Amino acid sequence: MKIYYTDVLVIGGGLAGLRVALATKRRGHETTILSLVPPKRSHSAAAQGGMQASLANVIKASGDNEDIHFDDTVRGGDWGADQEVVRMFVDTAPKAARELAAWGVPWTRVAKGDHETVINGQKVIITERDETHGLISQRNFGGTSKWRACYVSDGTGHAMLYAVSDQTIAASIPVLERVEAMALLHDGGRCFGAVVRDLVSGALSAYMAKATVIATGGAGRLYRVTTNAVICEGIGAAIALETGLAPLSNMEAIQFHPTGLFPSGILITEGCRGDGGLLRDVDGHRFMPDYEPEKKELASRDVVSRRMLDHIHGGKGVKSRLGEHLWLDITLLGRAHIEKDLREVQEICRNFLDIDPAKDLIPVLPAQHYTMGGVRTRPSGESPGLAGLFAAGEAACWDIHGFNRLGGNSVAETVVAGMIVGEAIADFCDQPQSDVTMSTVLAHDFLAREEAKIDALLRGAGTEDASLLRIRMQEIMTEKVGIIRTGATLAAAVDELQTLLIRSRNIGVRTKSRGANSELVTAYRTQKMLKLALCVTCGAVSRTESRGAHFRDDFPRRDDAAWLKRTLAVWKNENDTLPTLVYEPLDVMRMELPPGWRGYGAKDYIVHPDTARRTAEIEAAKNRLTNADRFAVQAAVMPYTHLLPERLRGRNERIEGSL
Ligand SMILES: Cc1cc2nc3c(=O)[nH]c(=O)nc-3n(C[C@H](O)[C@H](O)[C@H](O)COP(=O)(O)OP(=O)(O)OC[C@H]3O[C@@H](n4cnc5c(N)ncnc54)[C@H](O)[C@@H]3O)c2cc1C
Repeated sequence: MKIYYTDVLVIGGGLAGLRVALATKRRGHETTILSLVPPKRSHSAAAQGGMQASLANVIKASGDNEDIHFDDTVRGGDWGADQEVVRMFVDTAPKAARELAAWGVPWTRVAKGDHETVINGQKVIITERDETHGLISQRNFGGTSKWRACYVSDGTGHAMLYAVSDQTIAASIPVLERVEAMALLHDGGRCFGAVVRDLVSGALSAYMAKATVIATGGAGRLYRVTTNAVICEGIGAAIALETGLAPLSNMEAIQFHPTGLFPSGILITEGCRGDGGLLRDVDGHRFMPDYEPEKKELASRDVVSRRMLDHIHGGKGVKSRLGEHLWLDITLLGRAHIEKDLREVQEICRNFLDIDPAKDLIPVLPAQHYTMGGVRTRPSGESPGLAGLFAAGEAACWDIHGFNRLGGNSVAETVVAGMIVGEAIADFCDQPQSDVTMSTVLAHDFLAREEAKIDALLRGAGTEDASLLRIRMQEIMTEKVGIIRTGATLAAAVDELQTLLIRSRNIGVRTKSRGANSELVTAYRTQKMLKLALCVTCGAVSRTESRGAHFRDDFPRRDDAAWLKRTLAVWKNENDTLPTLVYEPLDVMRMELPPGWRGYGAKDYIVHPDTARRTAEIEAAKNRLTNADRFAVQAAVMPYTHLLPERLRGRNERIEGSL
């Protein structure tokens, strides 16, 4: 079993991992990327609709800036987000979009003059300004007050991933494909890399590093119906959890996307509704305005998904032999628009249902889509529990999304976090004390432990079938830990998942090959996934309130007095059957935007005792600074620029107004 050294070990070759790797390599640190699949096949390639960045190019984005993007994101997350990190994010997103343009992302561009578009079900003409002709165009998305999502037709992630991947090739960063990080190397206080399995040969090796980054994406495959690819199993988050030191955070915050294609769950982008698509029921009635008169189809995803289920439960679903669904209607956008800006949607509809969305309604039902939780990090991206371990992208809880992510904020997060966290890692590696001090003896112990686990699966007398345990887990998660949750069903889910976890300790494998062996892979991943499922479910049963995507039928109000805190889950001992939960409070007195009504969804919530005092404090600061610009006012209320790497502190230029 070999041991390799690198300065920075990046686990994950999606947008987040690749962008981190570019940042560290450019600062002179030897960087190695690991990936289950060739990076260009990472799940980031599936992102369709767009990337949020407040460029304010199109007329419907007029007046947009970081402040409005901040406001939308905090409200979207139902006040669960870390507001300082949201500020860092919204400030860097325009820089990231422009960097991507320079790297060749063929963003759809503004064309000056009149354009017919659909807004609120009506055809209207909008006129783009001459001076914006050729700039990056933007479309509307849910939960935003401006058209802010930069896009490449409906293949945004594909274009971004190819451009960033090409940059890593140009930078000569080695990528090890078809390998899997199975455990983190650490000495109880510092992380020093990972035990890595070659998925083809089955060989194990240790990669020792000064800094290790988890950028392994989401965990959608905990659920049966998900928009996520088969590789989105959350193994990166699980190996952090298994250290017993690095907490996962807000795992109960799982996003369900309103428009999963029924019945498969394949995503139909929010860009459809952003561009004017409507949701209809069994009678052809457009129902969202009845529930959400302000935002209608473009309320946040958690709200729209819940309203859809309520509507189905109210008897208005479309019955089919596979269950009930609703309709997405994009016929009113016209064939030309669909063929230009929604062509992947057209292909998906044709290939999977043999329907033509330019004339047929699309059957849709909410499907699991995004993991807001993940490896808890500080603003620098470092784990608060394990020095030298960093996380970025969907695998991380950095935490800009709180309890509900806005569409387009995820691919933006991947590249922005890559830029910011990458610089922090480079700073970390620059320090002499970051040297690898763990002994190779200890690394061999970790290797031997993982080898023994594989031996036990291949040679042991286990009788449980991992794929059956996994299917049952996915059913439990879909049926009991879904959009509408109750204490009793969540408690039942915890019991069942705990039983599955115990049974998973007796998994046997029929195919005995050490090399390419998908049964073996399923076997060792299933136990990790069950631990994650228990983090989601235990977090959900304990959180006796409703916030963002976590909706409790038995506690329907958001409770800022009791629950303005982040759930941290730690798996203390290998033999435990439940995570240990602790809570990290969110301090209202440090918030730039104290909790209030989101502007959509429920108006009824329990107020935090500090909210009035903080609101008054902010008002007083604003009154003191009546002649100051928005940057000075913001800095007085919640300073954050000190958290940004110096090279990213510049202000963003827009066509309207000077800096
Ligand atoms: C269908 C779909 C459409 C979407 N559309 C949008 C959109 O329009 N806008 C938006 O903002 N967001 C969108 N999202 C969300 C967004 O695409 C993802 O959140 C984001 O791309 C995740 O990027 P990532 O780099 O964190 O992870 P990924 O792109 O998932 O990459 C994870 C990487 O980790 C590797 N990996 C995993 N486990 C291991 C391991 N144990 N060892 C080694 N390597 C490992 C994988 O091989 C992969 O390279 C969409 C999501 C889906 C599912």
